Amino acid sequence: EVVTRFAPSPTGFLHIGGARTALFNWLFACGRGGRFLLRIEDTDRARSTPEATRAILDGMAWLGLDHDGEAVSQAARAERHAEVAQQMLAEGAAYKCFATQEEIDAFREAARAEGRSTLYRSPWRDADPATHPDAAYVIRLKAPREGATVIEDAVQGPVTIGNDQLDDMVLLRSDGTPVYMLAVVVDDHDMGVTHVIRGDDHLNNAARQMQIYRAMGWDVPVWGHIPLIHGPDGKKLSKRHGAVSLTEYRDMGYPAAAMRNYLARLGWSHGDTEVFSDAELRALFSLEGINKAPARLDMKKLDSISGRHIAAMDDAALLAELEGFLDVTGRAPLSAVQRTRLAAAMPHLKERAKTFIDLLEKANFALAERPVARDEKADKALDAVSRRILSELTPQLRNASWTRDALEAVATRAAEENGLKFGKLAGPMRAALAGRTVSPSVFDMMLVLGRDESLARLEEAAA
Ligand code: GLU
Repeated sequence: EVVTRFAPSPTGFLHIGGARTALFNWLFACGRGGRFLLRIEDTDRARSTPEATRAILDGMAWLGLDHDGEAVSQAARAERHAEVAQQMLAEGAAYKCFATQEEIDAFREAARAEGRSTLYRSPWRDADPATHPDAAYVIRLKAPREGATVIEDAVQGPVTIGNDQLDDMVLLRSDGTPVYMLAVVVDDHDMGVTHVIRGDDHLNNAARQMQIYRAMGWDVPVWGHIPLIHGPDGKKLSKRHGAVSLTEYRDMGYPAAAMRNYLARLGWSHGDTEVFSDAELRALFSLEGINKAPARLDMKKLDSISGRHIAAMDDAALLAELEGFLDVTGRAPLSAVQRTRLAAAMPHLKERAKTFIDLLEKANFALAERPVARDEKADKALDAVSRRILSELTPQLRNASWTRDALEAVATRAAEENGLKFGKLAGPMRAALAGRTVSPSVFDMMLVLGRDESLARLEEAAA
């Protein structure tokens, strides 16, 4: 069985890089009938906060990355981590080191002066326990000195680190607390994790973690270290490139399915295809498809993917998600009238909207109430001549049957009578009906609004 996990440190918001890591692990497990676990790496008591854990859980919930079972707290497992260190000690795979910080500093200084490696080599590694003092000690791994530690990385290929580059890492501090590196290995082992997909900033850790696996005789999981996300300029992604928190993308109005699609494509590919449904992502995602070069954030591509998801969504589902967006971003809920109009307008609206915010802007006619508030361009479009033509048009529309063909015939005739192309009349009509100069077509709007509301808006603007 495939078991993956996401192991965030709860020290801030959910970064889109972290969200992508979570998504990759989730997709990999989902596509193989496996399990996706969540472990909160909260061992850094000073920096970990419950708010950050909340933010991670909220972000994952929004992105639809549901984990199997309870979230595991790493800090709560400290005793188990210490137990494993003790086991390694008992089995001779680790040793007690009584060196003081001063002694270690002195060792390093001497090494530097003599041009030797400054990796600490503890004299306690092979000391007879009978000679141990009654003093504070740390437990260190008795790491191999010869040969190399090789990581068969599923993304980077084989990565070899000479064992002479690695010191005997501390496993348990003198106060009995486990170090992070030990905690990760013990947790991944105990949770039955078979595949670890994570940022390549952890590649160096993998060599040390490998040594712990070897010392314990445990199976090493498959590691896939993915390149971090870069900004459009090729530098490591940071705030100056734009939004880095997943929540910001939610608040910009990208649907979760579009964000899953975009994040999946950010570092993974399947041919030239850009748009994937969730089912396709689950079926197609593989470690082989992960790119070795860092992906660059590309807002244009995100907009285009998002627009295609919105256009492809079922009208009712889209309306429901839009209402969720209004709620989560603290906007006013839809009134019954607004909901009815929006539902009727959805087939036109969804064709061109890139985000929910974009859609709401284009849906202004369906959301507006009389008197219709107009933006500046709409105000300009309603000059004296236009208002006169609208006032002539309204009675003609009142007598027309309320169908697209009839409305179009009446409006076209009114334009011609004034020596105008219909396009010239459409602007003032949009301004009157929507309070905007950008909107769905005037006939689509009139059909959605109905006779009474449409005429009232046209009259209001003509007055
Ligand atoms: N807690 C680490 C982080 O947030 C992840 C460790 C791991 O995935 O092994 O970067």
